[in-house]
This record gives sequence, structure tokens and C-alpha cells, in this order.
Amino acid sequence: MSETVHATPPATAGHAHLSTRALALADLGLIVLDAGQRIVLWNQWMASHSGQSAHRVLGGDLFDVFPELRGQRLEQAVHSAMQSKTPQQLSPGLNRSPFPLFPAGTWGGERIEQAVSVTPFTEGKERYCLIQVSDISSTVGRERQLRGQAEALRAQSYVDGLTGIANRRHFDVALDRELRRAQRNGGQLSLLLMDIDSFKAYNDHFGHQQGDACLTLVAEAFAAMLQRPADLAARYGGEEFGAVLPDTGPEQAALVAETIRARIAALEVTHAPAAKRPYVTMSIGVASFAKDRLCTAETMLAAADNCLYAAKHAGRDCVIVHKLEETNA
Ligand code: GH3
Ligand code: MG
Ligand code: MG
Repeated sequence: MSETVHATPPATAGHAHLSTRALALADLGLIVLDAGQRIVLWNQWMASHSGQSAHRVLGGDLFDVFPELRGQRLEQAVHSAMQSKTPQQLSPGLNRSPFPLFPAGTWGGERIEQAVSVTPFTEGKERYCLIQVSDISSTVGRERQLRGQAEALRAQSYVDGLTGIANRRHFDVALDRELRRAQRNGGQLSLLLMDIDSFKAYNDHFGHQQGDACLTLVAEAFAAMLQRPADLAARYGGEEFGAVLPDTGPEQAALVAETIRARIAALEVTHAPAAKRPYVTMSIGVASFAKDRLCTAETMLAAADNCLYAAKHAGRDCVIVHKLEETNA
């Protein structure tokens, strides 16, 4: 097998022309300074984004062309690059638009955001440095867009991933807000906590996947029962749900709870044989705001949870409402 040897062809005038063409086409600003900070190269991109032609700036001091750059980070970077012979990178976080550069042909308005690097080199005995300026406006724009999307995602995290109704976090925020409103206005507020009866048996019999489907069905039916815009239906966790009902006293809340209980039973979702009832049911505990007595999220939740526990003991598929006399206050 014969070996092919690639020899580098000698530099020709044609190649010099190619370099010039490539420089003119480059989609970034290229400036070369000599050791005296005089501009010895200024490509097309720089001209079209600064409004200053090569003809005008060549041979001039960069910091006379852009006096505002004097004493700035770029000047330091040029000095250190020349002295230490190590490349310097300007952090875009500090000054996003050091050069007065604008979208091509529009010398005014908003500056483009730039990433700038300074690279020292020697040619013969002379020292030079190459400054590269790239337009990162679109990257920055994309970053902002991503941040916006992240915010939207945070907002979405108020939604339970499985059932699509509000999640625990949303529930907590709503309860807190409504409690403060009730305190301020002396208004009414009720809370429902509900739990699917014998759901472990359902899962064991039908499998986790069908368990998920059942949870979703119950969640949707329950959420659809709450009519007022201020009411909040949430998945509190596992197979437990919660409702925040502003402007609702204990009697009215008991009615809502009973309607929900009856509605879930009426879905007639076949339960596991091991469950007590043939259909899937829920037990519900109800607690209402009482100034100076049941007036924090913790005490209201504890009261509703006690009632839920009592409902389980009472045989499940029922509603128990917290009685104020039971509170030691
Ligand atoms: P009780 O009537 O006393 O409430 O009995 P239970 O079986 O419903 O109560 P337990 O707390 O013992 O069981 C709850 C079950 O709910 C256990 C768990 O596997 C199931 N579960 C919780 N979250 C999910 C879920 O997201 N998907 C499914 N499929 N099952 C869940
Ligand atoms: Mg439970
Ligand atoms: Mg349960």
C-alpha cells in the first residue's frame, strides 16, 4: 500500500485574498492592535456595527476612537494581555455592551450585547493583540426566555401532576391567604379533608396503574363539585384531598361535604372485594374558622383531620363536622 504525503502548498497571492475575504465575511468583530494600541486591522463586521469605516480608524488609538473605553475593563484586558501574553476574557456579566456597537446599519438605539476576548500574539518581533467581539444578544434573549419559561413552570407546580387539580402547595397557600382574609374581615371559612376508603385494598386488587386512574377520576369529580371561583379543590397527598371554602360556615360546609361524599359513591366505581363497600367511597372531616379559637392553618387542619379519623372509625363513607365545644380554648 502506498502512502500519500500531503505537502502544504506555498502561500500564494490567491490565499492572501482568501484570508481577506474570510475576514470580511466573519460574523464577529475583529480588531488587531499593535504594541502602541493603534488599530492595524478592523474588519467589515466592526465597520458595519460601529458605523466607523476601516479607512477612518486604521492607525488611530483604539481608545481615541472609543474614548468611553478608557479606564474600563477592556483597557486593562489589553494591557494585561500585552504584558502577560495570556489571553483575556471579558466577563459579560459585568458590562454586557462595552463597545458602542449596534445591529448592522442602525447606529443608534440599543447596543448589542457582546462577548469580548483579547488574545496577544507576536509576528516577527512585533507584539499585537487580537480583540474578538461577538454578538450575544440573541443568546441573552434566549436566556431571558428560558427564565420566563422557568417561572411558568414554577406556576405550573401549583398543579398536581397525576390528577391535574391543585396540589398541596397550592392548598397551603390558599388556606393561608383565606385565613388572613377571614381574620381581617371577620368572615367565614371552612376546610374539608377527605380520604378514599380502603384504597390500599383497591391498589392491591386492581394494581397501581388502575389505582392512579381511580384517583384521577375521584379528583376530577370532587373538583367539579366546587362551584364558586374562590373555592379550592386540591390533592393533599396520596389518596387524600382537601378543599378550602371561603365565605362558608360549618352548616353550609357540611352540606357541601355530604354532596361530595354522595357524588363519589354515586360514581359506582367498583371496589376491591376486600373493601367493606362494593363501590369506592370517601370519608370527610370538616372544620370551620373561629376567631381566637380555630384561627391558624395548623389548628384548622388538625381539627379537620380529627374529624376524618372519627369518620373512618364511624364506618367510613360519611362526613363528620368539628364541633367548637370539642376545642379546648
Ligand atoms: P382507609 O380507609 O383507612 O383510608 O384505608 P386505606 O387503605 O385507604 O389507607 P392507607 O393509608 O392504609 O392506604 C392508602 C393507600 O393509598 C396506600 C397507597 O398505596 C395508596 N396510594 C397513595 N398514593 C397513591 C397514588 O398516587 N397512586 C396509587 N395508585 N395509590 C396511591
Ligand atoms: Mg390515607
Ligand atoms: Mg384511605
